[in-house]
Amino acid sequence: MNKLKLGGLDSNKTRTIVKVGDLEIGKDLVLIAGPCSVESEEQIVDTAIKVKAVGANMLRGGAFKPRTSPYDFQGLGLKGLKYLEKAKQASGLPVVTEVIDPRDVSWVCEYADVLQIGARNMQNFSLLKEVGKANKPVLLKRGMYSTLAEWLNCAEYILAEGNPNVILCERGIRTFETYTRNTLDLSIIPAVKENTHLPILVDPSHGTGRKSLIAPMAYAAIAAGADGLIIEVHNNPCEALCDKDQALIPEEFEVIAKAAYKIRECMRALS
Ligand code: PEP
Ligand code: MN
Repeated sequence: MNKLKLGGLDSNKTRTIVKVGDLEIGKDLVLIAGPCSVESEEQIVDTAIKVKAVGANMLRGGAFKPRTSPYDFQGLGLKGLKYLEKAKQASGLPVVTEVIDPRDVSWVCEYADVLQIGARNMQNFSLLKEVGKANKPVLLKRGMYSTLAEWLNCAEYILAEGNPNVILCERGIRTFETYTRNTLDLSIIPAVKENTHLPILVDPSHGTGRKSLIAPMAYAAIAAGADGLIIEVHNNPCEALCDKDQALIPEEFEVIAKAAYKIRECMRALS
């Protein structure tokens, strides 16, 4: 791998801790939950209150959806961001939401506590440069065809613009396997840890695309050293406009959240 001037371990001996409200990402266990997309005020506010009650410490929800088909639900845009703001007020949870266009970054910052760069935009260099100039942390998802070196160089684009608050997120890569939506590459977690000081989260929802596989992959991710999880949770999955097959209900998320804390304790006791 080429030298990572800012993200590499020799440039910063201490691990990056990204502060979001009271949460210290890289130190505290991060449990992000919420729907794939913001669909209505009722949906996001209700889901936010429910996931907060069962252990989430951040809310997710897309207002801009990068969909495969142009005819699929594209997100509510500004209206979705306003609903996210209401959900934040109602639950007290900070919000992570995706930005897909460099022209939107400055005003999306008014609503987001963390800006998400989705897998499809990992190498959108003008978008990376723009979020690198923003004063909000960035959650950088791994591209579905990207190597570790490509991914870390994308983080470097953000760091090089002056934004030190980058959080990585493994969400599965494309392989020949079709049973799962993607192949969740858990070996990337220790590989990330031995090449950069940045924190890493894991998304077992997009990583597997199957409800039954989310909990075991979440547990394995924590055991492998992930700093947290991002999981799709919906208050009424049957009605979800996006990714309904992988959406958990808050009660299912609660089981994962409780176990995640226990696994994290076990791993700490072992180290
Ligand atoms: C998402 O988290 O909403 C999303 C679209 O995920 P990904 O970019 O990993 O496909
Ligand atoms: Mn989704």
